Amino acid sequence: MNALLEIVDLKSFYGASQALHGVNLVVRPGEQIALIGRNGMGKTTLLKSIVGLLSDRRGRIGFAGTSTLRAKPEDIARKGLAYVPEGRGVFGSLSVVENLVMSARQGVSGSRRWTIDRVFEVFPRLHQRRGNGGHQLSGGEQQMLSIGRALMTNPDLILLDEATEGLAPLIAQEIWKTLGVIRAEGIATIVVDKDFRSLAKVADRMVVMAKGEVAFDGTPGELQANPAILERHLGI
Ligand code: ATP
Repeated sequence: MNALLEIVDLKSFYGASQALHGVNLVVRPGEQIALIGRNGMGKTTLLKSIVGLLSDRRGRIGFAGTSTLRAKPEDIARKGLAYVPEGRGVFGSLSVVENLVMSARQGVSGSRRWTIDRVFEVFPRLHQRRGNGGHQLSGGEQQMLSIGRALMTNPDLILLDEATEGLAPLIAQEIWKTLGVIRAEGIATIVVDKDFRSLAKVADRMVVMAKGEVAFDGTPGELQANPAILERHLGI
């Protein structure tokens, strides 16, 4: 099957400092990719480079059949890419419903599968809190809202940074369950998280980053059978 996202020899820079040193990665439609590795290895930088938020990027990035290396974030988003950043970026002064409504749009192929009702079905907690302001929500509720907003754009690929960071275990479980729903819908995802075991249960592939490069790319089973990579890059 054709790649939805194809990254070849990607190098990204913060001013004079190089953070990515030639990343190669392919994501096929509907695939769930876990992006893991120790702190500071380039996971967030890779997500930001894909979304177009890092202006100095070199190499090749193809998304949905066109080159997006020089494209602006808003144009990349319109091609069917949704980004849930670390820290979530919920609008505190808007209600849950307002946060969701302002993100609503049909997908690239005209799909309108994700509506407010559908998001409330997946996250009943958000329905209970629908009139509350973003600033009144717990961290877990904000993460649900942030994922709900991404779904309201009817995307083909969602990038989710630090999916369960700082969340209570029960809430984190709900996020993992939602990732299963997203996968079943055929939406591709790249998920960054430190919870290796939960990722290994939901992901099609585990991609390990080290020093701005991909150190391993394989199935969860292949990674678990590779103690050297687990120990060196994940401390497991
Ligand atoms: P973490 O889990 O800690 O967020 P990460 O794998 O996502 O780690 P990045 O945040 O992408 O790693 O960082 C990769 C490298 O880029 C690090 O060396 C980091 O210090 C550097 N870096 C990140 N953001 C900036 C910035 N705004 N300016 C300069 N260097 C940066």
